[in-house]
Amino acid sequence: MSRVANKPFAASIITLFPEVFPGTLGTSVIGRGLRENLWTLQTTNLRDFAFDKHRSVDDTPAGGGAGLVLRSDVLAKAIDFASPKDDTRPRYLLSPRGKPLTQKLAHELSHEDGVILVCGRFEGIDQRVIKSRNLIEISIGDYVLAGGEVAAMVMLEAIVRLIPNVLGSSLSHQDESFENGLLEYDQYTRPIEFEGQTIPKILTSGNHKKIAKWREENSQNLTKKRRPDLLKK
Ligand code: SAH
Repeated sequence: MSRVANKPFAASIITLFPEVFPGTLGTSVIGRGLRENLWTLQTTNLRDFAFDKHRSVDDTPAGGGAGLVLRSDVLAKAIDFASPKDDTRPRYLLSPRGKPLTQKLAHELSHEDGVILVCGRFEGIDQRVIKSRNLIEISIGDYVLAGGEVAAMVMLEAIVRLIPNVLGSSLSHQDESFENGLLEYDQYTRPIEFEGQTIPKILTSGNHKKIAKWREENSQNLTKKRRPDLLKK
């Protein structure tokens, strides 16, 4: 599961709204990485694979009820176009029913050749295409969005920033929240005094050992208070 050296991480997105990409992924260091070909982004418009005269991609749910469901036949064609048989990249469906996206998974995926991301809309997609095309359902949190596009951007941003050379310094993500099972410590920068508040003295002492200890304690306390579930893991 390790990408061939110099081969960029290749993301392919299947969506009804390709025009929203790269969106936020086109800005800052992630966008620079895209322009420098450290990673690539390809979008496939699901609508292009509709075959009836109305170019319909959805239909009413079997069993009744509100809303529309994306059709398995149209979606399967789009997936087969974006990800042919010999494609080794894992395929994900953004879905509130999926396993939660974690920093650990983002790390694992950053070593892959890339990912295929299917963005749902409406009530979701026909179960049979999830099965036949081996889509792994993945969620960005316990809430419901109107579509998978923003979730796909979240997932890609988490992965791409871990690809070597995308972030300026390769060290800059090692301290971050979740990397060591803890939330990150409080951060400060100049000015030394802000509206009567000062920076904790240790941080300006130049004593690296003490600074590391302060940060470790701060991290522990914060995690205990806000995310005790992380400490149990
Ligand atoms: N009826 C579905 C929700 C559909 S929301 C259900 O109750 O499970 C429409 C689309 O938005 C989904 O198909 C999915 O692609 C995307 N989406 C919504 N919430 C999401 C989440 N928390 N994580 C990832 N994708 C989500």
